[in-house]
Amino acid sequence: MEQIELLWEFQQADMEADTLENEMKRSPNRLALKKNRDFLVEQQTAVKQIEEEVAQMLDRVDVIRDAIVMQQDQLKALQVRLTEAPPTSLDEARAFSQDAQRLLGDIASYEQEMKRIQQDGAEHERIQKEIVIKFSRVRTEYEAQKVAYEDEYRVQMKALEDKRRIVQEKGKEIDPTLMERYQAIKRHCVPPVAKLVNGQCGGCFMSLPSVTLRNLKAGAKLIECESCGRMIIQL
Ligand SMILES: [Zn+2]
Repeated sequence: MEQIELLWEFQQADMEADTLENEMKRSPNRLALKKNRDFLVEQQTAVKQIEEEVAQMLDRVDVIRDAIVMQQDQLKALQVRLTEAPPTSLDEARAFSQDAQRLLGDIASYEQEMKRIQQDGAEHERIQKEIVIKFSRVRTEYEAQKVAYEDEYRVQMKALEDKRRIVQEKGKEIDPTLMERYQAIKRHCVPPVAKLVNGQCGGCFMSLPSVTLRNLKAGAKLIECESCGRMIIQL
């Protein structure tokens, strides 16, 4: 068999194998599996973020609790001073009052912050619970899909390996330079080899220049399409 005939047969086998491989990639079961896997990973990340935020909240709660205790101690000390050494002037009384107001104001704003954190915490907990429920439902679905898809994959993979073996067999007799050219064209044009059809490239259907056609008539078996770069053969 001539090189271009071998190449043509090789391409047919090669395209069949590629088609199967693409079908495998687009398998609805595979896509559904991937979608659920992405979802599970996303939820895990979300839970991790919630946990980090809750840890920060707990740290802040500790800080606020200490601060409130300190302010309350200061307030008590102020009251003791007020009983033991009552203010003797209006200015002194005003200063006492201002200190007490400041401490009470601080305590109130800390308590408000504490309340906000508790609300946030409750909201975080609610979201986390929701995630846990959704997560376990999707994971159950995912595990079942995975088992089903593994069977499908095994069968398809076996078929693909068979096809690839045929491709390899058919490629054995082809001249390495020709094969290299085929692979180079395949990177940007599929299928890389086209037949000559009514003076046109069978790949892109552009008419070939008359000089090229003359070359073909003169016996050239293989030319290149100037428009798409495919190898054009004449069997
Ligand atoms: Zn072309």
